[in-house]
Amino acid sequence: MGVKKHVYYFGAPKADGDRDMKMLLGGKGANLAEMVNIGIPVPPGFTITTKVCAEFQRTKTIPEDVVAQVRENVARVEKAMHKRFGDVDNPLLFSVRSGAAASMPGMMDTVLNLGLNREIVEAWVQRSPEQARFVYDSYRRFITMYADIVMRVGREDFEHALGHMKVLKGTQFDTDLSADDLKKLVDEYLILFERKSGKPFPQDPWEQVFAAIRAVFRSWGNPRATMYRRLNHITGLIGTAVNVQAMVFGNVNERSATGVAFSRSPSTGENFFYGEYLVNAQGEDVVAGIRTPQQIGKALSLKWAQEHGVSEEERQRRYPSMEESMPENYKLLCDIRAKLEEHYRDMQDIEFTVESGRLWMLQCRNGKRTIHAALKIAIDMHRSGMISKEEAVLRVDPEQVDHLLHPNIEPAAAKAAKPIGKGLAASPGAAVGQVVFDAESAKSWAAQGKQVIMVRLETSPEDLAGMHAAQGILTARGGMTSHAAVVARGMGKCCVSGCGDMVISGRSFALNGKFIKQGDVITLDGTRGLIYKGALKLKPASLEGDFKIFVRWCQELKRLNVRANADTPADADKAREFGAEGVGLCRTEHMFFEATRINAMREMILADTKEGREAALKKVLPIQRGDFEGLFRAMKGSPVVIRLLDPPLHEFIPHERVAQEELAAKLDVPLEKVRQRVKALHEQNPMLGLRGCRLGITYPEIYNMQVRAIIEAAVEVSKSGVPVKPEIMIPLVGKKAELSFTKKHAVTTAEQVLERKGCRVHYTIGTMIEVPRAALTADEIAEEADFFSFGTNDLTQMSCGFSRDDAGQFLRLYEDLGIYTRDPFQSLDQEGVGELLRIAVRKARAVKPMLKMGICGEHGGDPRTIEFCHRSGLDYVSCSPFRVPVAIVAAAHAAVVERQEHAERYKALAASKE
Ligand code: PEP
Ligand code: MG
Repeated sequence: MGVKKHVYYFGAPKADGDRDMKMLLGGKGANLAEMVNIGIPVPPGFTITTKVCAEFQRTKTIPEDVVAQVRENVARVEKAMHKRFGDVDNPLLFSVRSGAAASMPGMMDTVLNLGLNREIVEAWVQRSPEQARFVYDSYRRFITMYADIVMRVGREDFEHALGHMKVLKGTQFDTDLSADDLKKLVDEYLILFERKSGKPFPQDPWEQVFAAIRAVFRSWGNPRATMYRRLNHITGLIGTAVNVQAMVFGNVNERSATGVAFSRSPSTGENFFYGEYLVNAQGEDVVAGIRTPQQIGKALSLKWAQEHGVSEEERQRRYPSMEESMPENYKLLCDIRAKLEEHYRDMQDIEFTVESGRLWMLQCRNGKRTIHAALKIAIDMHRSGMISKEEAVLRVDPEQVDHLLHPNIEPAAAKAAKPIGKGLAASPGAAVGQVVFDAESAKSWAAQGKQVIMVRLETSPEDLAGMHAAQGILTARGGMTSHAAVVARGMGKCCVSGCGDMVISGRSFALNGKFIKQGDVITLDGTRGLIYKGALKLKPASLEGDFKIFVRWCQELKRLNVRANADTPADADKAREFGAEGVGLCRTEHMFFEATRINAMREMILADTKEGREAALKKVLPIQRGDFEGLFRAMKGSPVVIRLLDPPLHEFIPHERVAQEELAAKLDVPLEKVRQRVKALHEQNPMLGLRGCRLGITYPEIYNMQVRAIIEAAVEVSKSGVPVKPEIMIPLVGKKAELSFTKKHAVTTAEQVLERKGCRVHYTIGTMIEVPRAALTADEIAEEADFFSFGTNDLTQMSCGFSRDDAGQFLRLYEDLGIYTRDPFQSLDQEGVGELLRIAVRKARAVKPMLKMGICGEHGGDPRTIEFCHRSGLDYVSCSPFRVPVAIVAAAHAAVVERQEHAERYKALAASKE
């Protein structure tokens, strides 16, 4: 039996792995191997697999055979680099980095400069005194990271000592510290290390490397990483891989640098090389935003200088672009950019280091991007012939489309207001909120229903929960690739970063003479990088430009129809503008939410005689007719599902005394009468009470009035030349007899109206499937129905036995514990509630193969559920107007993926026949 492989080498000319091995080698490891295989310069190293991580989570040890393979691969790297690990005269150093199959930027740990000890450092300095500064700088970084990541004693005291040294020396940047300063700092760090961890700093490089590998494995389960996976619904992964790679140094001298870049703009998607670099620095400095990075391209550098009021002379002296300061390496980097895009056929996010004039690539991956960038890149790549339309559609995450529907500042308001400051336009959109200065306050204020803007000097991964809770993020430091910018873009949160003029002190900040304290309201414009005092008016998004083109492509490719849940003509207009192909649910009870109308509804509910109810219904009829006319006109001949009344009574009954008094006065009845009726209608379990068709069966005159209003409206609109397609829907049916009863009344009423009006309008009558019994007897119910619409809100409530109104109390905990991985009221519980849906589809189609079926619960706007609906054979999904574009994209994804699967299957079949 062969030896089981746990460690994969990568280094010229050929790596053990490749890009297709992400599950085993993680994204970083697989792409490092791929870059080696296509001839891009990568420092050699090796990847320990995710399977070892999974094993480590169980045993907390690194198995012996893995230890042996690590040692063998260290030897391979030594040979390739002509250096030796732990050698005093010619030492090889390593970086130890995490890298899971899904990108989790900044969430897990990294240790750099590993392999240094006192002896190696001293010998190095003696050998090359000109490198003394670099050697001490690397050593102090290593001690800090080791203390923080491996020993878990935090880095604050080390940062503090560094800050203290800078104050002592009167310098602003660590690059201004001399070799001697850093040597003193190292001595101080070693004492600090021992004091904090209770152990001297380990001098044996092998001890260091295995401790670092264990620490990176451990970081898979740290709270930050766990929360990131939960927020991003990253499931099904077994752990992180660990990449141990020969160190190359961007901090050796002024001919060294480190940088990060995107092959196209991650913010707008424009096709230019977008990157930042720092001379004489290590990678962490660029991402952490400690020094403001410089642009790699000259054109952007000039633009940056102009925006920041930096003179050309100063720019050339202090902030030259890489194109100017390292022209050969810049050219090489541009070639690599082109090669990687061509190879991966997608926008790449890369990390590189130049060590004493030699360029090395440290990472490449498909770059995270804003939705604006995602759309532009997908469209441009398709138009340039690089990818097919289907691939272009799959490049845009449907959930991310939601970010486009976030507001921007109303142009007139932006024109009239003067910004108090400017930073980098790190993540687009706009946000208004009260200022808070830490993640904890952001979370607790948001939990109280407040809108907050989180203001930080710079963000770190610990701020993740705060960023999530905030409407927007503002930072003083950091470039476009800083943690704040990258994470905010991923979340679709508006972010302005690198606002260097902002001076934060305690719980307030000063910006160009304006003073803002905690709780004050500001507005951020993440599209332009502007900060305003006070609340500016925001405008909702609309379908235009690239968004419009992309949605059109998705409409061409999808099979499912996408409708909207719309209760008013205004909602219906918006839905149509966003691409809705009909109304899938008009909740008629919602038409009475307005204060002026609710009394008519209450009068009807509280009437205790048929005459009383009919008198109230007379007042309601013209209101309803008008509403329905508006909907039919707005939808211009597309189908409109109007659901007959389904009011959970407790939502409409006046519970407060003042409201009861008002109603009594309006109806001219004694207060006591109203109170008695309210008492009589009280239900212990209103969601299972006199709702839906039960109300319509108890008081047929209510549904009769509604059907009359629908048909009269349809006749009116159709006479005016606008086609109409009314679809009347009966809610909360559990038994065929309920539908038969209500349908009979509805047909009689509709026919009476048509006869009276002397014309014909085609209408259909269907039902919601939202009671489990209805799903289980769908074949019987289908006999009476023209269509089905799955009401998955109630179906979830009744199948899981979770109250729709109260389940929030424990569902968060359930999600944390993994009992349900997603809130079943947001994303359909496919195994349980979904199974009921599948049963219903199967049974119904057995008796009526062409029965039209859709979904109108909240799940109709959830991409995962939409995929499920596609696969289950539904005809349409219906969701709120602002989710319509998300649903269109999700429906296109489902169709394209299914087509690709079919093609694969045919291919496999053809191959098996040959
Ligand atoms: C449902 O139950 O899924 C539904 C759409 O109806 P409502 O939310 O109005 O109960
Ligand atoms: Mg319902």
